[in-house]
Amino acid sequence: MSISQNELIHQNEDTYSLKGKVAIVTGGSRGIGSTIAKELAKKGANVVINYNTSKTSAYSVIEEIEFLGGSAVAFQTDVSNLDEAHSLVEETISHYGRVDILINNAGITRDRTFKKLSKHEWDDVINVNLNSIYHTTSAVINTMLEQKYGRIINISSIIGQAGGFGQTNYSAAKSGMIGFTKSLALETAKSGVTVNAICPGYIETEMAAAIPAKVMDNLLAKIPMQRLGTTSEVAEAVLFLANSSYITGQCINVNGGVYM
Ligand code: NAP
Repeated sequence: MSISQNELIHQNEDTYSLKGKVAIVTGGSRGIGSTIAKELAKKGANVVINYNTSKTSAYSVIEEIEFLGGSAVAFQTDVSNLDEAHSLVEETISHYGRVDILINNAGITRDRTFKKLSKHEWDDVINVNLNSIYHTTSAVINTMLEQKYGRIINISSIIGQAGGFGQTNYSAAKSGMIGFTKSLALETAKSGVTVNAICPGYIETEMAAAIPAKVMDNLLAKIPMQRLGTTSEVAEAVLFLANSSYITGQCINVNGGVYM
C-alpha cells in the first residue's frame, strides 16, 4: 500500500509523539536535563522542570519550550529531601492533573580518592544521585500503577558500570541506580510501568568541563568515537525509552563505544 507525502510527513512528525503526557525531569535546569526537557516538550509532553539552585536557567528552558509552542513549568525542589520530592509530584499533579514520565536526572559529583573522601562528600553524592530516586519514585509509583502506564528513566553513568578513579561515592550511587532499575522493573512490569536506565559516557556539560584537561586528553584517547557525546544524544535515548512499551529493566549505553 502506498502512502501520500502528507501521510508520511504526519507519520514522521508523530514519531515518538508524547502528546498529552506529563513528564517530570529532575535537574532539568541545566546540562543533560535541560536538553531532555526540551526534547520531551518538542514531542508534545507537558514538562515539569525541577531545579534546585539554577532558577534563571530553569526559566530560560521554559521560555525556549514556550517559544516552540510547548508547555512547561518549573518547581524548585531539592530531590535529596523526601518531603520536597513528594511536594514536587503533588505540585505536578495539581498543575497538569497527572504524571506519566519521570526522568531521574539530578546528579552531582564530589570526586576525591577514597583515602581523602569525607563522610560528608560520600553522603552528599549518595543523597542527590541515589536516595533521590527513592524519593521521587515513591511519590509517583502509586499513580503510575493505578493508571497502568508509566515510564521511569534513571540517568546513571558509565562510572556505575566501569568505576572511576576518585569516584567511589559517585560509582556506588550510579551502580545503585542500575540495581534499583532492574528490581523495580520486575515489580511493575505487569502494570504497564517500565523502568529503564541510561548510562551516558562522557558528555559535553559543566560536569564534564570539571574534568582536568590532562585527564580529558587521556579519556578522549580511549573513546572509540574519539569525541564527547552531546546532551542531544542522551535525550535521543530518553525519547526512545519513553515510547517503548516492551523494553524494561534495561540499561542503554550512550558512550561512543568506550564501554561495551
Ligand atoms: P550538570 O550540568 O551539573 O547539571 C546537574 C543538574 O542536577 C542541574 O540541573 C542541577 O540543578 C541538578 N541538581 C543537582 N542537585 C540537585 C538537587 N539536590 N535537587 C534537584 N536538582 C539537583 O550535570 P549533567 O552533566 O547534565 O548530568 C546530568 C545527569 O547525568 C547526572 O545524574 C549525571 O550524574 C549524569 N551523567 C553525566 C555525565 C556527563 O558526562 N556530563 C556522564 C554520565 C552521567 P541546579 O543547577 O538547579 O542546582
